[in-house]
Amino acid sequence: MKLATFSPIKGQGPTRIGVVDGDEIVDLAAAAPDLPQEMVAFLEAGAGAVGAAREAVGTGPRIPLADVRLEAPIARPPKFLAVGLNYADHVAESGLETPEHPTIFNKQSTCVTGPNDPVHVPKASHVLDYEGELGFVIGRHARHVSRDDAADYIAGYTVVNDVTVRDWQFRTPTWTMGKSFDTHGPIGPWIITADEVGDPHQLRLRTFVNGDLRQESNTKELIFNCFHLVEYFSTAFTLEPGDIVATGTPGGVGILSKPPKILKAGDVVRVQIEGIGEIENPIIDEPGDTAR
Ligand code: ZN
Repeated sequence: MKLATFSPIKGQGPTRIGVVDGDEIVDLAAAAPDLPQEMVAFLEAGAGAVGAAREAVGTGPRIPLADVRLEAPIARPPKFLAVGLNYADHVAESGLETPEHPTIFNKQSTCVTGPNDPVHVPKASHVLDYEGELGFVIGRHARHVSRDDAADYIAGYTVVNDVTVRDWQFRTPTWTMGKSFDTHGPIGPWIITADEVGDPHQLRLRTFVNGDLRQESNTKELIFNCFHLVEYFSTAFTLEPGDIVATGTPGGVGILSKPPKILKAGDVVRVQIEGIGEIENPIIDEPGDTAR
């Protein structure tokens, strides 16, 4: 089941969640009005809510996908965790040793943006780069969960572009600033439930810039896989429904290409993961009116 957050293009009510089926979306607000209409609350409602959504697919009213705008499936994840140096070819191109422990950082949840929304070249720096990644979404509170049990705590999977401002990333030993600029967390186009993905560690991942293939790998190459990461995180802290983990990027990032290839306004970045879908984001200069 593809769980999406959408807003109608033509004035048919507020942003809400639905289930994508073919080229239509089943409107859960109409089909199952007792369910939470926001994704984190929906995931918190657990297996019962997921079951009710599944039933609604057969009977609920449908809207053509062409008539809606897909938003980030989770607008403001409770946590947006990410993993550095988690594919051997990316470790090698970085000139580093294979890490003994996962390299963990946070993206601020305010960086989340939609699967087709613009990504800003910030006013503060032009050194903008892409990182195509598999993301997983937590479905249940998880603390001290072993890797053998971890699958039960993952609601589903999504596509992430871990957009990075490289000079800000490497100014300091921790990467939070360079990983967290507004609009630098495109996710989507939906969360595909774990039952439909099968083995999450057998998925082809590709990143294109203006149609040119820049990254191509498979999630079987992950050094620390999704289940290992659930165990690792939950050793220290509680994972909660709606938390997103970006699992790391393979080789082929722009900054380490020879010569380096930096994103600029007018570029379009597409990240595709087999069995999940794709996100495609245009790059624009940060507009003048982003101050609040
Ligand atoms: Zn990354």
